[in-house]
Amino acid sequence: MSNQGMGTRCVQAGYTPGNGEPRQIPIIQSTTFKYDTSEDMGKLFDLEASGYFYTRLQNPTNDAVAAKIAALEGGTAAMLTSSGQAANFFALFNICECGSHIVASSSIYGGTFNLIEVTMKKMGIDVTFVSPDASEDELNAAFQDNTRAMFGETIANPALTVLDIEKFAKVAHAHGVPLIVDNTFPTPVNCRPIQWGADIVTHSTTKYMDGHGAAVGGCIVDSGNFDWMAHADKFPGLCTPDDSYHGITYAEKFGKEGAFITKATAQLMRDFGCIQSPQNAFLLNLGLESLHVRMPRHVENGLAVAEFLEKQPEVKKVNYPGLKSDKYYEIAKKYMPNGGCGVVSFELKGGRKAAEEFMGKLRLGAIETHVADARTCCLNPATSTHRQMSDQQLEAAGIPAGLIRISCGLEDKEDLIADIAQALK
Ligand SMILES: *Cc1c(COP(=O)(O)O)cnc(C)c1O
Repeated sequence: MSNQGMGTRCVQAGYTPGNGEPRQIPIIQSTTFKYDTSEDMGKLFDLEASGYFYTRLQNPTNDAVAAKIAALEGGTAAMLTSSGQAANFFALFNICECGSHIVASSSIYGGTFNLIEVTMKKMGIDVTFVSPDASEDELNAAFQDNTRAMFGETIANPALTVLDIEKFAKVAHAHGVPLIVDNTFPTPVNCRPIQWGADIVTHSTTKYMDGHGAAVGGCIVDSGNFDWMAHADKFPGLCTPDDSYHGITYAEKFGKEGAFITKATAQLMRDFGCIQSPQNAFLLNLGLESLHVRMPRHVENGLAVAEFLEKQPEVKKVNYPGLKSDKYYEIAKKYMPNGGCGVVSFELKGGRKAAEEFMGKLRLGAIETHVADARTCCLNPATSTHRQMSDQQLEAAGIPAGLIRISCGLEDKEDLIADIAQALK
């Protein structure tokens, strides 16, 4: 599989039917699984044998789709979660506990910011936010003895800053902790963070992967590269016996390649139960089958809209890493030579009021709390997704109150531009 192209993997990875078996991944719509003997079942509970016993932990439909995403990202193991929020929470909480500390880019999705800044703090997990543009020295200075993870987004939603993955990975590794990268916006079609040193990759599959606004979901992929045992003092959850699982030491029993996802499944899925429904995993797979065909069109439309907006007198500023004038153009070229995504953000000269008027006049672009699907949509983050953030926090995250995020769908770019032109007038 590793030699195959992205398109082949999008279509075929993760599931190979046997003779006479269903061509499409079957939806295993069953909460539970039957065994002949208690001994068979016991082996599953002890993680001595692999198999299924209860869909709160694992389901075959989900596993086939997760295996496809692992193949796309170039990872060794993956799991689906009920949402992108659950994926980021699990990825962090799998290695952090009360008393731990996280270094995170300040330019991240509002929901993730809130998760780390508010909710995880209540669990005794502290955070230091850093600018995605911070120098190596500044990044180093954010680390503490109790730091257990570094976190950022490849292309941040909605600020559209681009993470210097190599730089962040280098600093994280110098401090003996993994780099977790949320790769939702570019998807593995446009960027594979593991190639640049990321250890764990997360996704809100709700976005481009599903691509049709049909199913909320998330995914965690492990690169299999981080050597937990080499930093055993930092990661007791992976490197010492788990009393809640018959004394298994995940990093010993499942190695670098399997420990992280096995622990997240056996402990976190068991205890939190944020499983993706097999129905949603099936819908997600339909999206994945055309991801490599859709992403270039999203990029084409995003670039055309960004170039148009940049020339309009009503527009103060356009953010799109594919624009030559964009601060992140060079770094985006390095990590995403084929373009990043279809999301563009821009500020109207008339501020918040002009933004509201403009959005109300769009005919194709609907006002939605969503991005990254087949239909163009738009949003004013300050009054919706990011309304829990103060104006100061909004500025720090690069999201002025008058910013509009427009997610270019798969329509014809000429129609999108005509729609934006009439709304601007
Ligand atoms: C939407 C989003 C999330 C949260 O995902 P849900 O599926 O909505 O829970 C996390 N990270 C990024 C970058 C997102 O765009």
